[in-house]
Amino acid sequence: MQQRVGLETPAAGHRVRAWLLALGIGCTLLGCAKKGSEMQFASDIEGRRAQFMRQELHANLEHLTVGDRSAVDHLISAARIMDDIFWRQAWAGSPDFAKHVADLSGPGGRAAQDYYRIMFGPWDRLRSRQPFIGNLPHPPGAGFYPEDMTKEEFEAWITAHPEDKASFESPTTVIRREGTRLVAVPYSSEYGDLLRRAASSLRTAAQVASTPSLKTFLESRAAAFLSDDYLQSDMDWMDLDGNLEIVIGPYETYEDELFGYKASFEALLCVVDPLDSENLGKFKAELPWLEANLPIPDKHKNPNRGAESPIRVVDEIYTAGDARAGVPTIAFNLPNDERVRETKGSKKVLLKNMMRAKYDAILVPIAERAIPSDRMSDVDFDTYYHFVLFHELCHGLGPGRIVVDGRETEVRLELKDLYATLEEAKADVMGAWALHLLADKGLMEASIASQLPWTFVPGLLRSARFGITEAHALGVICQFTYLMEKGALVQTPEGRLAPVPALWFQSITELTHDLTMLQALGDYDAAKAWVDKYGQVPAGMQKILDSLADIPVDVDPIYTAVPQQLSQRR
Ligand code: ZN
Repeated sequence: MQQRVGLETPAAGHRVRAWLLALGIGCTLLGCAKKGSEMQFASDIEGRRAQFMRQELHANLEHLTVGDRSAVDHLISAARIMDDIFWRQAWAGSPDFAKHVADLSGPGGRAAQDYYRIMFGPWDRLRSRQPFIGNLPHPPGAGFYPEDMTKEEFEAWITAHPEDKASFESPTTVIRREGTRLVAVPYSSEYGDLLRRAASSLRTAAQVASTPSLKTFLESRAAAFLSDDYLQSDMDWMDLDGNLEIVIGPYETYEDELFGYKASFEALLCVVDPLDSENLGKFKAELPWLEANLPIPDKHKNPNRGAESPIRVVDEIYTAGDARAGVPTIAFNLPNDERVRETKGSKKVLLKNMMRAKYDAILVPIAERAIPSDRMSDVDFDTYYHFVLFHELCHGLGPGRIVVDGRETEVRLELKDLYATLEEAKADVMGAWALHLLADKGLMEASIASQLPWTFVPGLLRSARFGITEAHALGVICQFTYLMEKGALVQTPEGRLAPVPALWFQSITELTHDLTMLQALGDYDAAKAWVDKYGQVPAGMQKILDSLADIPVDVDPIYTAVPQQLSQRR
């Protein structure tokens, strides 16, 4: 993740007056030996904190039923407990360390506290987990395993005790030492007090909620907190059909960098906007029509795609735990349990107010530097939102399963390491192509298609900032190079990027054709040659990318639909 920042400053810091009680940990900290000495934090802490712009996220709860509206407060109480658990999952030392962070003062002290809250610990998630407070190395097993346990020790234990394999590798246990033994402790026991409180809040919410599918999910999830068996509640989550959307529990396993086994607790409490959902239904109904109109020969089209996994658009009311650590997400696809995916599929959820927050904090400032200033009036959130939405929808269009030399296979398997780059570029370009077709068909405002190029350019630059080693960024560079070669994108004498409307749609259509055919044919060498040809940063563009370095990397959300004392609590 560290290349997402574009800053190379090492973590070395100057000393700032701060009061540090003897920690018993990290005594390599300067002057840690006595009470009332100095704690070190990164000298550029103000700059790091400024990478995350405070941004208000609004959500309208007025259309919720009275029962569901009263459930919200109990759900927030439960969500807050996910924070408490995740702090412990991120590092067993968190509860003690937090007291010392709270005592930080002097220049940069407040920024260090804020950054600690954003990073859920003293390690910078944007810079390979280097410490920014103190100098303890980050434990790769986070708080899931004994810090002194090696991979080898864990594996040796399983070899010697095969009966422990399932519980040791379970996503819902932590590993602890008991004398000379290693033991797996279920989450329901390790975080028992917290999970019982969370379960009780979920049950209270279930009692007052009025949407039956929500009641069912909250009851089964509360039971899962106490039994560690999440299967039924994941199934019930797929059936949620009201205006409240809630993810709460242990989901992603990225925090466990040792093995990737252990799931982190998080919560995303969201509300569906009825108008967005109505429009989304309208667009989804057009997916088969779009597939049929793809600019490729019919034999490569896939009439059966498009009806795969459901997509929902929501506004966040509140988030907590893993979902809140470092860079906040704008979309998620859950559950991860393959048994649920096979039976019920998975659900993709787009977080619209988070998209809006990132648009205001990042995309608009990028546009101000990257496109001609007289076209700023064409940079528009509604256009950006539809572009992102169709990017997601277009992942479900075009070739998926293909036949290569008589062999049944998948695009993903044939294009290997190039797959993500080409698939992301395809989703961008096909999304832009689809918006034009639907605007022509009268299914969305014509302004969305006509303004699209000026929103498309800063939108893609936002992804390209992360450097061409990242798949989506490389895909973006390919798109820019291609569009410049076609004359659909030119650089002004001031060095700005200006779309050429007369050539735009034609070039977007040709690029959609080229990318889709690379996928349809599944020819790795051809794909490699294409990426090599177009994947070089075009002359002049590096300068633009360099000029974006001080624009915020992401947002630090403030949830306005939640009583202040709750959202500001941490
Ligand atoms: Zn994508």
